[in-house]
Amino acid sequence: MAEKRLCGGCTACCKTHPILEINNPARVWCPHCEISKGCKIYETRPQGCRDFACQWLMGGGADDERPDKVKVVVDYLDIPGFGEVTMIHEVTEGALQNPYANRVLKRRMQLVQPVCLLPVIGSNTLYIPQKMFFSGFGSFGRINDRETYIIQY
Ligand code: SF4
Ligand code: SF4
Repeated sequence: MAEKRLCGGCTACCKTHPILEINNPARVWCPHCEISKGCKIYETRPQGCRDFACQWLMGGGADDERPDKVKVVVDYLDIPGFGEVTMIHEVTEGALQNPYANRVLKRRMQLVQPVCLLPVIGSNTLYIPQKMFFSGFGSFGRINDRETYIIQY
């Protein structure tokens, strides 16, 4: 059985995700974070931090694709009536264009699953495979190519 993964020196989600308990917005380093080292208040960190696990920590991707290495954090958002959306959060500007992020996006599209790209700066982009619309999801958004609807917000 594969060994359980540990965050180690990764602190990527301490920037990408909002921490409601301490009012820290997404895309801003948490003031308690020692970047690439860990949490300065580890023993008393908020419940939201304790509960969070990115897809890499849960066993997704290769060992060397830890979020601080590939500069994106991937997790999932379950939207009732819509399904699971793969969320790709950018850690450093431009990382959403790197080969790893592209691979995750393409793979999810092939599996007919929606993907949301969340850059450090600018609008989020939701990619919805066209086949989802034919399964009765609806008909909003615009087509940028023959396979994907894109919605920016
Ligand atoms: S992004 Fe994943 S591996 Fe990195 S600190 Fe957060 S939960 Fe751990
Ligand atoms: S409180 Fe600690 S674990 Fe939570 S975001 Fe801040 S540095 Fe990371």
